[in-house]
Amino acid sequence: MAEKINLSENMFSQIREKEIFIRAKDHAFDYIDNIFKRNVYPTEQAIENLVIFDEKFPDLSCSPKLIIDLMHEYGSPATVSITGGRYFGFVNGGVIPTSLAAKLLADFWDQNSVLYVTSPIASKLESVVEKWLVDIFRLPENTVAGFVSGTSSATLCGLAAARYRMFSRLGWDFNAKGFINAPKIRIITGSHEHSTVFKMISILGFGKDNTEIVNTDCQGKIVPGEIPDLDESTILILQAGNVNSGSFDEFDEICEKANRANAWVHIDGAFGLWAAGSEKLKYLTKGIEKANSWSVDCHKTLNAPYDSGIILCKDKDALISSLQNVGSYIILSNERDGMLYTPEMSRRARSIELWAALKYLGRDGLDELITGLHKRAVQFANELKENEFEILNDVVFNQVLVSCGTDNLTKKTLKFIQEMRVCWCGSAQWLDKFVIRISVCSWATTQDDIAESVRSFVRARKMAMIN
Ligand SMILES: *Cc1c(COP(=O)(O)O)cnc(C)c1O
Repeated sequence: MAEKINLSENMFSQIREKEIFIRAKDHAFDYIDNIFKRNVYPTEQAIENLVIFDEKFPDLSCSPKLIIDLMHEYGSPATVSITGGRYFGFVNGGVIPTSLAAKLLADFWDQNSVLYVTSPIASKLESVVEKWLVDIFRLPENTVAGFVSGTSSATLCGLAAARYRMFSRLGWDFNAKGFINAPKIRIITGSHEHSTVFKMISILGFGKDNTEIVNTDCQGKIVPGEIPDLDESTILILQAGNVNSGSFDEFDEICEKANRANAWVHIDGAFGLWAAGSEKLKYLTKGIEKANSWSVDCHKTLNAPYDSGIILCKDKDALISSLQNVGSYIILSNERDGMLYTPEMSRRARSIELWAALKYLGRDGLDELITGLHKRAVQFANELKENEFEILNDVVFNQVLVSCGTDNLTKKTLKFIQEMRVCWCGSAQWLDKFVIRISVCSWATTQDDIAESVRSFVRARKMAMIN
C-alpha cells in the first residue's frame, strides 16, 4: 500500500543518496551488455506484458526504485534494438557511445537552449556545431543552423523561410497578411519526395494539389529536363537520399538552372546530405552548395541520439523573419540565441551530444562511419544477389531494395524474417513491386552482422516457399 510521503524531502534525499541514479545506471549497463546479442525486435510476450503500464492515474506517489525497476523489467524487453548491429528498418541510426555519455551528463544539467541567457553552454555548442556542419557539407560561409527535433521540422523551417523570401520579393509581408489575397508563388518537387515534404507543404498552406510534380526516373531521381520553367517566385524541393532507393538528385545541373531564374532551392537531405562527409561518396552531393536551404538529421547517418535535426539556411534574415517571436521578457544577447532559428522557444540542448559525436569522430572518423555504412550496404546487396534475391535499386548509399521475385513470396519471406528476429527490415512499394527495404544506418553493423542477416533471409525464403 502506497502511503503519503513528504515529497520535497523525498526528492532532496534522492539527489543526496543517488541510489536511484545508480540503479538506473546499472540497468542501463545491463541493457547495453546485451544489445548485440538480444533479439532485434521484442517478443510477443514482451509486448503483451506492457499491459502492466495500463493503470488509472495513481492517487499516491510511487517508490522511485519501483519506477526504475519497472522500466527495466518491462520496458527494456519491449524496446527495438536500434543501437545493436542488425536493425535495418526505416532509416534509424544507431548511437555513438561518447555522444550517449555526453547526453547522460547533459541530462543532469537539464538545460533550456531557448536563449543565450538560459544556457551559455548550449548556445556556445550550437555556434560551434553550426560552423562544423557548414564545413562538413561545404555550404556557403554565411549559412546559419537551427537545432530542431528532426528533418520534418527542419523542412518546415526551410520552406517557411523560402515562403517569407518569395513573398517579400513580391512586396507582400507574409507574416502580417498571410495567404488571403496574396500574389501567387509556385512550389515544385519530384514525385518521389518524402511524405514529410508533402506534409509540410500542406501545413504551410501551399496545398498539395497546388504543387507542381516533376517526373522521376527508375531510381526516384528528378529528371532534370522535365523541370518546368522556374522564376523568382518559385520554390523547388530536391532530395539527397531517396528514403527507399537512397538516390540523389542532380544538384549541380538543377541548382544552376534554379540560380539563373533566382528560384529558391530546398534540399531534403535527412540522411543523404552526410554523403558529403565521405571522400568516396561526396560526388553524390556535388552542387548542394548552390541551394538556399537544407534539412538534415543527426539521429540517422551521424548516429547521434534521437531528436536531432538541423535546418541550414543561407538566407539568415528569411529564416529568422519567418520564425519571428518577440516579447518584452525575451532577453536577446550579442551571442547566439537559439530560438531565433527554430519554431519552438523552449528546447532541450541537443547541441551538446551532437557536438560530442562530431568531436569524437573528427573528419576522418566521420568519413569512416559514412563510407562504412555504404560498404556494408553493398556487401548486403552482393550477398543477397549471390543467394538469388533480386536487388531493385542502384546501391549508391546505404539503402537496398530486395525482391524474392513475386510480391507474394517477398511478403511471406519478410514476415518470417521479422518473426525470426535475427534482424529487422521494413517494406515499401517500389515502382510496381512490393520490396523488403534495408537501411544500413548504424556504426555497430559488422560484416558478420550482414552475413548472419543474409542467412536469415535465405532461411525465411525457404520457410515461405513451403508454407
Ligand atoms: C527520415 C526522413 C525524413 C523525416 O525526418 P524525421 O527526422 O523523421 O522528422 C524526411 N526526409 C527523408 C528523406 C527522410 O529519410
